Amino acid sequence: MKKYSVLSRKGFFQDFLYIFFYDFLLVFPVVIGLDGMMSSAFGEDLIVFNVMEYSNWIIFPFIFVLVDFVNWFGHVLLHKVPLLWKFHKIHHAQEELGFGSTRHFHFMEYLVFRPLSYIPFHFFGVTPIEYMVFQIWVSFTFTFMSHANIKLKWGVLKYIFITPDTHYWHHAKNVPTTDSVNYASILTVWDQLFGFFYLPKNDKLEPELGLYNDDTPKGFVGQVFHPFKTLFKKEDGTNFKADKNA
Ligand SMILES: [Zn+2]
Ligand SMILES: [Zn+2]
Repeated sequence: MKKYSVLSRKGFFQDFLYIFFYDFLLVFPVVIGLDGMMSSAFGEDLIVFNVMEYSNWIIFPFIFVLVDFVNWFGHVLLHKVPLLWKFHKIHHAQEELGFGSTRHFHFMEYLVFRPLSYIPFHFFGVTPIEYMVFQIWVSFTFTFMSHANIKLKWGVLKYIFITPDTHYWHHAKNVPTTDSVNYASILTVWDQLFGFFYLPKNDKLEPELGLYNDDTPKGFVGQVFHPFKTLFKKEDGTNFKADKNA
């Protein structure tokens, strides 16, 4: 557990702003709007295999693994594509993490995750309401938990599911690799398969949260506009490696 209390954590009150603007004001127009646009663009033609015709014992594990892979892949893109990193960097500029830090991200990330989530769902005939239920009950539980400032003995579970142990290393600037690590949304299997999994054997090693040479503004409004201002700036760090070497 990091040495700051819940209330004195940097960004604790700012996270409420993010939660208010995103989860109360923005999420429904954006999510419903984007899904509506994609729905009218693709219609019903994209269904290649209607998983909804099977029992819940098949549908839910199938949705679970599919969504998890899609979220993992979207997260890798946010790090690897320089333009997307400028937006995702807002999430990584946080120097202290807690429960609410998961909602501290730039709204442009919706433009990556919604189409990515929508297209496979549409391929498999899953309707948005099932998706929302899944998103709220499963994904949110894990992402809130993975940012929480809690130290528990996870045992073998931390090699299977995301935990603060691995996600805090995702936010660390002192990883011994040139890339970031642990992109997992829920399952760590994708990171293990593609060589991004990292958890030091020595549990005395502590992740140093944040970014090197970070130029992200401290205020909410500044953070919303910052990626747009630096959109065409070459010297802005485009990934972890560039930030480290800057
Ligand atoms: Zn990330
Ligand atoms: Zn995070």
